[in-house]
Formats: sequence, structure tokens, C-alpha cells
Amino acid sequence: MNIYKYDIVYQEVPHHISLALYVCGCPLQCPGCHSPELWTEKTGTPLTREGLLSLLNKYCDRISCVLFLGGEWHEQELVSLLQVAREQSLLTALYTGLDVVSPELEKHLDFLKTGPWRRELGGLASPNTNQIFRDLRNGQILNHLFQTNSKETSL
Ligand code: SF4
Repeated sequence: MNIYKYDIVYQEVPHHISLALYVCGCPLQCPGCHSPELWTEKTGTPLTREGLLSLLNKYCDRISCVLFLGGEWHEQELVSLLQVAREQSLLTALYTGLDVVSPELEKHLDFLKTGPWRRELGGLASPNTNQIFRDLRNGQILNHLFQTNSKETSL
């Protein structure tokens, strides 16, 4: 599974600073996607468990969550990487353009954003959005936190 880039982000997971990893290869190709460079799987570099552990060691004093977003993923590889994050006592999050993910994948996640980008409906900051951001630890929908203080995003 290739990663196009990574960044430290402050708004994508409410109340947490996250290491965001942008996954290459998104088959959904939503019109208006802000990151079409992520549509192909042929860019970026492979992210191994060792590579992720190295990043976590570098940023562990700044982050409380690891977030995968951008393109879609290879489930077994993603689960393996989410396990690395949890082994470091970090929370885990995924932004997907799909409406559902497998129960097995959900077991390894604390936060999940589902739903493709629909320009006419807007992202999480829009009250009309089709996207849903859930805290899987308690099942709560947290969209209201984006609608009061967050920026628009098309991921
Ligand atoms: S908005 Fe997200 S789900 Fe849609 S094409 Fe872009 S990366 Fe893929």
C-alpha cells in the first residue's frame, strides 16, 4: 500500500492531533476531488510496519491519533498498520469514500468517516452532507463538531 505523503493535522479528528497518511489509489474518482493525484496507485512509496513505527517514534510526542485518508486501501495491510498504531497506544482513524467498511476493519478503528465527496452536498462542515464521521468507541456521530468550527474538505 503506497503513501503519497504524510502530515500532522489538527481538524480531521476532533480534539486530536493526528499523523495523517495519504493513501494512493482511489477507484471512486469523485468529481471535484481535491486530491486527484491520489487516484493512481503508482505514485508514492510503500508503507511498511517498520516505516510507520519509525514515523510514530519521530512524532509520538505531538500526536494522539493515526489517520489514513485519501485513496482507498488494501484491507489486510491497513489492519496491520492500524495494529502498529494501537501498539503505540495511539487512536486510529480512517476517512473513506465508501459508505460502509467491513466489521473486521472497524474493530481496528476508533474513528471512521464514510461517504464519497458530493460537491452539491458538501463535506463534513456542511449540514447537508452525505458524509458521516463516527466515534466507533461509543457509536456517536460527531458531524456537529465539524459544522461549528472546521474547514471544508473533499476527502
Ligand atoms: S474525494 Fe476521496 S473518495 Fe472521492 S475520489 Fe477523492 S480521494 Fe477518492
